[in-house]
Amino acid sequence: MHHFKYQNNELYCEAVKIRDIAKKFGTPLYIYSRRTLIDHYQKIKTAFRSINPLICFSVKANSNLAVLKLLVKQGAGLDVVSGGELYKALKVGVSPKKIVYAGVGKSEVEIAQAIRAETLFFNAESFAELGLIERVAGRLGKRVDVALRMNPDVDPHTHKFITTAKMTNKFGLDAKTCEEIFLRACIFSHLRLTGLHVHIGSQITDAQPFVRAIKKALVLIRRLKERKVLLKYLNIGGGLGIVYHDEKPQSAAEFARRVLPLLKKTGLKLILEPGRFIAGNSGIMLTKVVYLKKTPNKNFAIVDAGMNDLVRPSFYDAYHEILPVVRNTGYGRRNTEYDIVGPICESGDFLAKDRNLSVLQAEDLLAVMGAGAYGFTMSSNYNSRPRVAEVLVNKNKFSLVRKRETYADLIRLEIIPRKL
Ligand SMILES: *Cc1c(COP(=O)(O)O)cnc(C)c1O
Repeated sequence: MHHFKYQNNELYCEAVKIRDIAKKFGTPLYIYSRRTLIDHYQKIKTAFRSINPLICFSVKANSNLAVLKLLVKQGAGLDVVSGGELYKALKVGVSPKKIVYAGVGKSEVEIAQAIRAETLFFNAESFAELGLIERVAGRLGKRVDVALRMNPDVDPHTHKFITTAKMTNKFGLDAKTCEEIFLRACIFSHLRLTGLHVHIGSQITDAQPFVRAIKKALVLIRRLKERKVLLKYLNIGGGLGIVYHDEKPQSAAEFARRVLPLLKKTGLKLILEPGRFIAGNSGIMLTKVVYLKKTPNKNFAIVDAGMNDLVRPSFYDAYHEILPVVRNTGYGRRNTEYDIVGPICESGDFLAKDRNLSVLQAEDLLAVMGAGAYGFTMSSNYNSRPRVAEVLVNKNKFSLVRKRETYADLIRLEIIPRKL
């Protein structure tokens, strides 16, 4: 599943001792395993081999250039949701014909950038957006492909902040509206409405919601076919869940077994947009215990990483496994329940609560597992903390793939007016 394993009670990433990476680059730190990233990408690729889909890695899950380049070299396309992500995608040399662009709020400037770059298509989410893409494409003298994002109104039973496919969410358009727009597509002389997009949320561990969403998409595709509207692309988004704790997510192969029969019938080019599935378990965040603090109710381990470095626990109440980098096997070894908390001035600043861990000491290194997706990309400078470094491990070698920010970086863009 991933390549972070103990050898002689010492945690390794592939063939590198985590401790050695900490020695070289300090903490906190994100560490990614090249092998794990590739394995996960290949799992999806293999599972869907029979229809050769375009697998667009979702850049918002992990946008480090080295990670993107690695996946692009394996043949992946990229799914972007902003001008900044498009910029990074182009930087790593992915073919623009492997870039798809989603998001409810694309600006005029961003739309123009994507059209100029000649990306594969937009995933459009509203009638107003179609109007804007039409105007920009007209101005640039281009005709562009667009997939309509349909909101299939299914509940994937995940955290409310990562559900995108209920009718109360801001994403996509209901099936009826999609159909009306497809039937009236001729009003857009600079658009080709050639695709249908459904992305129903994230960390979905069961194939059932995907099946229901795809079936709803198929109904629409069939209705359109009856009216002589033929599509080219079916984009089923991302959202495949992974193991953080005791989840039992479907494997890529199981997922494919459930959805492939449905997809094959359509004859459309399939697009997938996995993010978390590829990157989630490919990375950890490394942190160090700064202080231990015992109160009448709690044992706190105060560590050097906070919610600004990894916000998932605070924001989604997400569970991340915490592993000691060096396992304590000494005689008389005991366990204690800890809250692992950061240095940020917020009570919501925690990485883990009520965790049973072998007794900790100051300076101990802890690995926060499953931090490769929505980890660094959601980090911030809150409390004026420089963002941490990122390292990529390749077998017995490791490279810095993002430098740790400095205090100078914190003020680089700020300006104090002469007169205050
Ligand atoms: C976030 C996102 C994804 C990736 O979701 P994962 O759960 O990381 O696989 C795919 N498509 C779209 C449109 C997204 O917004």
